[in-house]
Amino acid sequence: MGATRDNGAMSLSSRRASDPDATSASRDSGALVIEHVTKDYRTGSRVTHVLDDVSLRAETGQFVTIIGPSGCGKSTLLRIAAGLLRPDRGAVTLFGERPDHAATAHIGYVPQTPSLLPWRTVLANVELALQLNTRAGRPPSPDSGSAREMLERFGLAHVLDRRPHELSGGMRQRVAIARSFIVDPTVLLMDEPFSSLDELTRDAQGRELLRLWQWNQKTVLFVTHSVSEAVAFSDVIVVMSSSPGRIATTIPVALERPRDEGRERSGARRDLEDQVRDELRRHAPAAQ
Ligand code: ADP
Repeated sequence: MGATRDNGAMSLSSRRASDPDATSASRDSGALVIEHVTKDYRTGSRVTHVLDDVSLRAETGQFVTIIGPSGCGKSTLLRIAAGLLRPDRGAVTLFGERPDHAATAHIGYVPQTPSLLPWRTVLANVELALQLNTRAGRPPSPDSGSAREMLERFGLAHVLDRRPHELSGGMRQRVAIARSFIVDPTVLLMDEPFSSLDELTRDAQGRELLRLWQWNQKTVLFVTHSVSEAVAFSDVIVVMSSSPGRIATTIPVALERPRDEGRERSGARRDLEDQVRDELRRHAPAAQ
């Protein structure tokens, strides 16, 4: 995927010099490379051919968004990228390694529904991620700060002592995102993290995610149904078609950052949104 980060984002050379992922060798191999992935689900005698020869690539620090009709295999692809599911054919590499070898040091995975431990407070949920990471031999990153600081960054300082059931859906999702950032993954896989939020909260969360991404230089693979979100966030938009899921087209987004919000969208931004909508329509399942 050839698009490069444009203005407003931190330059890639600002990555920590000591970070092994910042070496030119690992950058050359791509932060996340998905090659010719094919996946079937088998339920009894029924076989669902979900992904067919899917290839995509996210370079270090890129924000890549996947958009496509429901059921085209976006979540399946993300779970394969996370190493949670094996492809039938093809391969995924993170900085040149298989995800199961690269392990969670590289990967932050935010599923559609946040899975927080209900008996732990907000703070304790995020601290647990740090403890598990440390126990797995990965010391906390000085860049991420403490769990408390990370939650403060997400505007959650006032709910540190609450339990998940005392939070709104949006707050729970923010806690889950803070938890994924605290272990300082180099690749962040996000599966429609804002889908359950109202529009205003969704906009605010999106801005916060972009701010953190620019500050923290993650490589992000993001799934959404929202065309405007895709254009606002991405360096590259990957449009998928369904039955089976394939990459229909890849659209580089060369708009300057920060991108204007809300009503005053530029003509270039509106044109790109139209282009993505056209592609989605062109590749929509016949029944829709
Ligand atoms: P998307 O995220 O694009 O909506 P999914 O990856 O969730 O798509 O699902 C793709 C297809 O695979 C759908 O038809 C879905 O019903 C089917 N599917 C997903 N998970 C399973 C599973 N564990 N077993 C069988 N079929 C599944």
